[in-house]
Amino acid sequence: MDNYENKCINGCNSLIKADYKQKKLTVRNLPGMFKFHDWLPVRGFSETEASPVTYKSSALSKELGIPGLYITFNGYWPEINAKIKTCSFKELEAVPTMLRMEESKSNDTILVSSAGNTGRAFVEVSAQTKIPAIVVVTKSALKNIWTTKPAENAILIAVDGDYTDAIEFGNRLCNTQGIVSEGGAKNPARRDGMGTAFLDGAVFAGNIPDWYFQAVGSGTGAIAAVEMAERLISDGRYGDTLPRLYLSQNEGFSPMVNAWNENRREIIEELDMPDAKNSALDAYSPVLTNRTPPYSLTGGLYDTLLKSDGIMTAVSKRKAENAGRIFEETEGADLDKAAQVCLASLIEASEKGLIKADETVLLNITGGGYKFAKEELLLIETKPFAEVLPGDDVTGLQKDIFERLKQHA
Ligand SMILES: *Cc1c(COP(=O)(O)O)cnc(C)c1O
Repeated sequence: MDNYENKCINGCNSLIKADYKQKKLTVRNLPGMFKFHDWLPVRGFSETEASPVTYKSSALSKELGIPGLYITFNGYWPEINAKIKTCSFKELEAVPTMLRMEESKSNDTILVSSAGNTGRAFVEVSAQTKIPAIVVVTKSALKNIWTTKPAENAILIAVDGDYTDAIEFGNRLCNTQGIVSEGGAKNPARRDGMGTAFLDGAVFAGNIPDWYFQAVGSGTGAIAAVEMAERLISDGRYGDTLPRLYLSQNEGFSPMVNAWNENRREIIEELDMPDAKNSALDAYSPVLTNRTPPYSLTGGLYDTLLKSDGIMTAVSKRKAENAGRIFEETEGADLDKAAQVCLASLIEASEKGLIKADETVLLNITGGGYKFAKEELLLIETKPFAEVLPGDDVTGLQKDIFERLKQHA
């Protein structure tokens, strides 16, 4: 029975995990990512084309001198059958999260705060499924909130501030009955949804990879990857060693990189993210600028890095852009800026000679294919329901939202 709780019932500060009946994974003949239904916390499934797609690289692999390079592509690239229309792995979180909400039979409406990609993913899944959603984004991200169907049941709020202002405004908006936060990293549907990217890579390769590369903002995707690796170890057919994590952030805004490189569980604001707000606004990839990531808590990113002997690094804009060019030239798709950061970190690791010739690498391309999406899909911009300032009062807006939800019910 799932009451849509995302916290420990004993009040501890840790991430709750789904415990699945199936210990051995069977890949199902279900739509999109639901092929991994065994390890998603939902009873049913929804019609979706969203799924990670993994292939063994040849051109990039040669270029970097990494023979065991697997690419898990999360985006829109019809040539390889990648059909995540909102072009990032955030849609893999949104699909099971919205379904889990729907299955919980509460009448609450889900609220999600976002720097852009998550917002677009939830608005799209709301448009596809007709399940209502309240999405709070930064004003600068408004232009990125497009869908492939009219999003009549999505309520979009724009906050004139940075990602963390959007999160804080969203938290205040949820502070009433009827609106519930989707829970972020604490929601097992989000983690296991994102975790399907790792799962797809490992299942395709036939083994848990030696290395896992990802760019991180909250670190949820990396935590999710290791949780899936643990399930694969219990399964027994995919090896018995966790992948070594190699995670990256933007140079200029890298709180988790800084704390981890000093072996600290705590992020110290003055040390790890001086002038946080401005450096977040200036960062190359905005989706990597979470100021309150689930790093310190039990089961959070610090613990995950400890168990996987992880490495964290910060990447400059120049190196990220260069990596993006190399991917387009060798593999053929354009990358989300965050995925460029990630590839730049792989280039760096390979230049340092960290990856041995017989090791396998899973490169999580967390977003890309925007050019293909623009060419082939009809993209509809979502109009904001309200534009607010970070400090604005929420009571009036809450009333307006309930009115709107009633009209659509
Ligand atoms: C959100 C996002 C990330 C970072 O994921 P986290 O789980 O927040 O660490 C990386 N790449 C893309 C494209 C994203 O949208």
